[in-house]
Amino acid sequence: MFDVIIAGCGPTGAMLAAELRLHDVRVLVLEKETEPASFVRIVGLHIRSLELMAMRGLLERIRERGRRRPAGAYFAGIDKPAPAGLDSAYAYLLGIPQPVIVHLLEEHAIELGAQVRRGSAVTAFQQDDGGVTVELVDGEQLRTRYLVGCDGARSTVRKLLGVGFPGEPSRNDTLMGEVEVGVPPEEIAARMTEIRDTYKRWWLRPFGERIYSVVVPAAGVSDRAQPPTLEEFRQQLRAIAGTDFGVHSPRWLSRFGDATRLAERYRVGRVLLAGDAAHIHPPIGGQGLNLGVQDAFNLGWKLAAQVRGWAPETLLDTYQAERRPVAEDVLDNTRAQTELLSSEPGPQAVRRLLTELMDFDEVNHYLIEKITAIGVRYDFGAGPELLGRRLPDIDVKQGHLYGLLHRGRGLLLDRTERLTVGGWSDRVDHLADPTAALDVPCVLLRPDGHVAWIGDDQQDLDDHLFRWFGTPD
Ligand SMILES: Cc1cc2nc3c(=O)[nH]c(=O)nc-3n(C[C@H](O)[C@H](O)[C@H](O)COP(=O)(O)OP(=O)(O)OC[C@H]3O[C@@H](n4cnc5c(N)ncnc54)[C@H](O)[C@@H]3O)c2cc1C
Repeated sequence: MFDVIIAGCGPTGAMLAAELRLHDVRVLVLEKETEPASFVRIVGLHIRSLELMAMRGLLERIRERGRRRPAGAYFAGIDKPAPAGLDSAYAYLLGIPQPVIVHLLEEHAIELGAQVRRGSAVTAFQQDDGGVTVELVDGEQLRTRYLVGCDGARSTVRKLLGVGFPGEPSRNDTLMGEVEVGVPPEEIAARMTEIRDTYKRWWLRPFGERIYSVVVPAAGVSDRAQPPTLEEFRQQLRAIAGTDFGVHSPRWLSRFGDATRLAERYRVGRVLLAGDAAHIHPPIGGQGLNLGVQDAFNLGWKLAAQVRGWAPETLLDTYQAERRPVAEDVLDNTRAQTELLSSEPGPQAVRRLLTELMDFDEVNHYLIEKITAIGVRYDFGAGPELLGRRLPDIDVKQGHLYGLLHRGRGLLLDRTERLTVGGWSDRVDHLADPTAALDVPCVLLRPDGHVAWIGDDQQDLDDHLFRWFGTPD
């Protein structure tokens, strides 16, 4: 009997496994593929994800394998630098190959004690009052208290649950890959500059020795399970640029669409959904992996609390209540960005107007906080502006706040030095620090770093400890 089985060892599943292990939950991750993905798509980790990695002591390892780039130019690729004064110690973008980030997260989960079984696709399950029986592709059956589908856009778990996935089908497919070219770099650069002014949805960029990264619209929408051919890339390059640049010797070729869909529910009884299994959208702005990892961060401690038996009755349901609106917002911003990439005169005019508007700091701030997820505010009821938001990595007497969050516990940050976490001390740490860089007396942080309470009254604090951390010991 496992406590939690996770279907899928992508970034979402691996992050969730690690979060659960921080609370000694018995976790098994079942991954369909026998080997990690071979494509080396570079993804961008945005500010909030970098903060999460810092909160769990993972950032150094990840930074070593990635490339730091300045924040900014995220929204529809509009070329504006980030506004000054972004409220984060990690105000940059980290480009990193997706297989590397998946590997690092999986390694971290295994170090913490998670089991990962590759070549084990989930094909069926039945849930009852006591748990879930999960069936694997070879007919083996496993029993678990909870099952989480982190099995990607075509999630088997979501389909078996019968959860609807409404939205828009793909209207535009894009071809992406790595190839060698048969013409000098200057010729490519010149042609790119000429066409990119009016035609945004393509590029051919150097990527390592002799290798070019190529992105080009597909001729139509087709079955994404079918890998594209080099000839399709050549035809599409000729259609856009008038030449195929002699592309040859592909390292890998892939196809992706711009379907936009959101699961109707994130939980049915003992089965939950996270990451691409719950939401898909075009990759513009580079948000999908970030969103999935942040789902996992939100769900991990709540599911652990449920397993360990101290979760308040409604805690697990706050996962959907908090994360589904965030996904809805991401879906909407990718819809807007997709329109802004159109070469039609109307969207081009809106793009020019938005480019001008972004010269206003507030507009630039608003958009960047949206894409990097540092603007997320969960609805914890009425209260000060900080309530429900994440706390940045402020200075505290032991150094940095995030250094105190590695164990995934709650934290009372107390400038009054007279409050206590009492019977919750097995779940919540207490730091009495009058010097903490806060402009409120005390905050209660959840394990995901969001502010659950602000104040200085012990009774009020106890009520909130009860709300988020259940009955005291
Ligand atoms: C071109 C492109 C560029 C992108 N760039 C970015 C970017 O810059 N930033 C960003 O944040 N996001 C980006 N994304 C999106 C990102 O790749 C996805 O959102 C992310 O991979 C989702 O992670 P996941 O773990 O939820 O799902 P996946 O990565 O799809 O992982 C799901 C896992 O489940 C496994 N699985 C499937 N079915 C089963 C089953 N039945 N049983 C067991 N295992 C199963 C799969 O093999 C897979 O390993 C990009 C996407 C594309 C297409």
